[in-house]
Amino acid sequence: MQGKLIIFSAPSGAGKTTIVHHLLNVFPALEFSVSACSRPMRKGETNGVDYYFISVEEFKQKISDEEFVEWEEVYKDNFYGTLKAEIERIWKKGHHIIFDMDVVGGLNLKKQFGEQALSIFVMPPSIKHLESRLQMRETETPESIARRIGKAEVELQTAKQFDTIILNDKLEKAFAEAEKVVREFIK
Ligand code: ADP
Ligand code: 5GP
Repeated sequence: MQGKLIIFSAPSGAGKTTIVHHLLNVFPALEFSVSACSRPMRKGETNGVDYYFISVEEFKQKISDEEFVEWEEVYKDNFYGTLKAEIERIWKKGHHIIFDMDVVGGLNLKKQFGEQALSIFVMPPSIKHLESRLQMRETETPESIARRIGKAEVELQTAKQFDTIILNDKLEKAFAEAEKVVREFIK
């Protein structure tokens, strides 16, 4: 069976991972698409759960073997991509797939899958909020935060191209809104 695709995109720090985790707890029919990536593993992350962590060389090999449905070098030498095998794995189980990816990857997937996919943009209240959330998360160096914030302005301008925008100001409200749009889409 081919299930549906639910894509969450936003600038880094907007809260998409938080919202996606919440939805996974609420809807048993959803399964998270684990991306491959070539950045180092962060504290608290698990290989095969958060990402399939692979080297830059392995990533490039998979690109030339056409194993990705989409991939991107989101930051220098930090490659991220969705494996075709991951989509097949989840659909085989009869689940719908939920994705957490940057805006370019999100729009790319939506273009490929059309009506089968729902693309959702998570809007932060402001860029200042993004910065303070990334600082509070304590996973990034000051350089990495600056790099992420540096991309945010352009990323925010893509919001209108998504099917739905969810404002993540108060988290409880964002959770409720996300539940509503997902319930409607998979019913
Ligand atoms: P992303 O996956 O978009 O990079 P995260 O989900 O990791 O973002 O959220 C970034 C940080 O902001 C996390 O520490 C998270 O707990 C926090 N956060 C998420 N949503 C809110 C919110 N509405 N208000 C305050 N902090 C939030
Ligand atoms: P992080 O390093 O914070 O986990 O992720 C950096 C960025 O890469 C985030 O915007 C994240 O959503 C994005 N990302 C994660 N997986 C993928 C993927 O498979 N494809 C693309 N294009 N971006 C991804």
